[in-house]
Amino acid sequence: MRLGTLLGSGVGLIAVAILAGCDSGPDTAKLANTKADAAARLKESRAAKLKAAAKVKANELGQIPVLMFHRIVPKPATTDDRSPQQFRAELERLIREDYVPITAAEMVAGKIDIPAGKHPVVLTFDDSSPSQLTLNEMGVPQKDTAVEILKDMAAKHPGFRPAATFYVTRDMFGKTTREEQAQYLLWLKDNGFEIGNHTRDHHNLRGRTQKEVEEQIGSIAQQISGLSYTNPTTIALPYGNQPSKKEWALRGKLYHHKGAFLAGYTPAASPFSKSYDPAGIPRIKVMEKKGDCAQFCSAAWLDWLKNNPDMRYTSDGDVRTVAYPKYKNPYLRKSYATWSLAY
Ligand SMILES: [Zn+2]
Repeated sequence: MRLGTLLGSGVGLIAVAILAGCDSGPDTAKLANTKADAAARLKESRAAKLKAAAKVKANELGQIPVLMFHRIVPKPATTDDRSPQQFRAELERLIREDYVPITAAEMVAGKIDIPAGKHPVVLTFDDSSPSQLTLNEMGVPQKDTAVEILKDMAAKHPGFRPAATFYVTRDMFGKTTREEQAQYLLWLKDNGFEIGNHTRDHHNLRGRTQKEVEEQIGSIAQQISGLSYTNPTTIALPYGNQPSKKEWALRGKLYHHKGAFLAGYTPAASPFSKSYDPAGIPRIKVMEKKGDCAQFCSAAWLDWLKNNPDMRYTSDGDVRTVAYPKYKNPYLRKSYATWSLAY
């Protein structure tokens, strides 16, 4: 019945349009009405968006934890290592506390596409070790490697994206032939993981000449793109140390990065916030609250973000807007002004 009425009125409209098209000019009164209708609809949908953003307490100028992992090994040898059990427990905590992983590339591009009320987290893995990625001859990840655990957790918990960023050096997950290296990088790419730059030789870049810095970053960029047809858009600086001019890490003849990541010690500013510096984005070491990690590693910071929800990034579920309480307006970066949804 309803469909019939709709179809009927549609035919009527077409008839009017054809008649009007014969000899009379455009019906300006009608056009003005349509414009007013469209404006009213836009206003209505904006009001609905504002209401929805307020309902989930969206805070897209809030902080994002960027977690830094190294090896995932059964017997951790240093405080950088995590066991598969520890890694699983960390992911379970993130799931429980409504985090959804995004890649570093998505973060720096401002493409934070997660459901309303959820918080982004960036999982990063440095040094391209076999404990992160080892595949059999069919391309299946070995049990208890980082990628296997990520995929397994995502399968068990719908809504948890197996997204992560792998910062690669010439070590290339322990693979030495060009074909094997290509297989590994292409597998990461095909499975939605990001391949990032961690320099060729993992030298400390502090105090080096611009030529040396460009060599270290550019040569591995060239190797990655030759093997996987991917140009990394983010870099993790070895030891978290910036070169003498921090911009050298972002732009060189063979690379153009949108973000350079450090090694410590706080959550990162939202890419939409004025506090954000793409040349030095902080990361958080993954570790319990003990020793040096009593305050500045993952367990402590996740506690803090949980206890200070006004400081944490919360999504409104719409990737096309930057939603936040109006009070935070002065912190919005100008380049995102047109996306602003301040409630
Ligand atoms: Zn490293």
